[in-house]
Amino acid sequence: MDQEALLKAVTTRLQVFERKYAQYLFTKHIMPSLDQESVSMEAERYMGLLFIKKKAFISQHEYLRQEIDDIRRADTAYNAHPEDFPNHKTEYGYPDKFRCNYIKLEKHKLARCSTKITSGDEFYCKRHGTEPNKHIQDYQKAVASLESPD
Ligand SMILES: [Zn+2]
Repeated sequence: MDQEALLKAVTTRLQVFERKYAQYLFTKHIMPSLDQESVSMEAERYMGLLFIKKKAFISQHEYLRQEIDDIRRADTAYNAHPEDFPNHKTEYGYPDKFRCNYIKLEKHKLARCSTKITSGDEFYCKRHGTEPNKHIQDYQKAVASLESPD
């Protein structure tokens, strides 16, 4: 093997090693804690490294922010002209008081159920009325950390 071929072989092996090491770091250290914002940002960096499309990845933080924005917009629209929404549903979904309070865990993300509840006395939709709302505390913590980042 001449010098050039040797160099090429070493380079190729190094690239394979680099890629495998990045994958190892990602699965061992990043994946298990994907829900934490600081770790999520690291995860995005590693995902870029592994050529996974960034667009498919939305952090819990970003997801929550969108959800809260939608509920606020729905509240504002509804409260301004409730008569315009006989079914209570706005273009942003149901306002807070007409939205189920059950917290789902979907694809590693906490999300509030977006189903309608019929009266102000109800807390959950028909589907979630009998299920324990076991993620509510984690959700409230996530919302609190979003509103007062330290
Ligand atoms: Zn529900």
